[in-house]
Amino acid sequence: MSGPEQAPTAPAQAGPAGPTAAPVTVRALVARGAGADLRVERVRLPAPGPGELRVTIRAAGVCHSDLSMVNGTLAARFPLVLGHEATGVVAEAGPGSRLAVGTPVVLNWAPACRTCWWCRHDEPWLCAANTAPTVARGETDDGIPLHLTLGLGALAEAVVVPESAVIPIPAGLPPERAALLGCAVLTGVGAVGNTARVAPGEAVAVIGLGGVGLAVLTAARRAGATTILAIDVAEAKRDLALAAGATDFLLSDDRLSKEVRARTEGRGVDHAFECVGRAATIRAAWRLTRRGGAVTVVGMGAKDDMVSLGALDIFHSARTLRSSVYGSSDPDREVPELARAALDGTLDLSPLVSGVVTLDEAPAAFDRLARGEGARWVVSFPD
Ligand SMILES: [Zn+2]
Ligand SMILES: [Zn+2]
Repeated sequence: MSGPEQAPTAPAQAGPAGPTAAPVTVRALVARGAGADLRVERVRLPAPGPGELRVTIRAAGVCHSDLSMVNGTLAARFPLVLGHEATGVVAEAGPGSRLAVGTPVVLNWAPACRTCWWCRHDEPWLCAANTAPTVARGETDDGIPLHLTLGLGALAEAVVVPESAVIPIPAGLPPERAALLGCAVLTGVGAVGNTARVAPGEAVAVIGLGGVGLAVLTAARRAGATTILAIDVAEAKRDLALAAGATDFLLSDDRLSKEVRARTEGRGVDHAFECVGRAATIRAAWRLTRRGGAVTVVGMGAKDDMVSLGALDIFHSARTLRSSVYGSSDPDREVPELARAALDGTLDLSPLVSGVVTLDEAPAAFDRLARGEGARWVVSFPD
């Protein structure tokens, strides 16, 4: 897989990190089993093979899907490095790689193969090559084979990934914002623009105000929606929601339907976005949506959490219920666009970042995420 003769073939590279062609040891956030405490451990990554890159991570977000890996919602394998939303710079290029050392990048947790039926039919977010929640690579310091969340394991000082999982971005974005482009922002912006196609003047409701829900609010505002209702169980989300673009904040309680109808001339919203991933909130989103409107499920739920809808209701309401996987996006094209929008100020990511922490503080950030505190917590890695 690697050898001393494998010099990087990237053009014009002059980065300080030359070829090592040997495994590297880095610190990473590891779960040893389902429900186990998260710990920072030293892990060994292989040298990048043909078509692979080692990326030094600058910042990585703490996303709910990582929590789903550890709490048993998703079928993960252990020991597992968490993290799938990150930015960094190319540190070492395997043979045949196109990217130069030093290139700033965002990681892509669903790289498209470009050859399967879905890729050929312009639906790369459904690529048949991306089905495993975890991928085996590297080993722990005590020699146990390691698994990586969504093929990345990005809550680590570095990752070794296929070049297809790396998206070059323009330089200049603060890393704690650039990291979010790889999951929360792409997912939220894509759900609004690609999946639901929200139009100017429409009314939108967003249930669940974590990083993705807040990104949906921001995207709905950019799309020209005029009524943007942010809904959560925690009153503490009110200020975050208004900063992200909501026109109103509503508590998710038994008055919710009435409150939404009072703000939509009695009809309900044109688009509801469910950003929790639970049957109860999918039902709530359905009830808030007008006849002929659309419910977009953005949250990833558990396979045994069943949603029940009446057959007559489905017919009479004429609503559409669908999901948005990775924002129905082509990350290779859309992440650089989003990076440029963030750089020129037309996409404001600052309301999405609640705080920046160190890798050692990441377990506490996951506790805060589990309690629903804040927007996005981002782990920053020193240069
Ligand atoms: Zn995520
Ligand atoms: Zn494919």
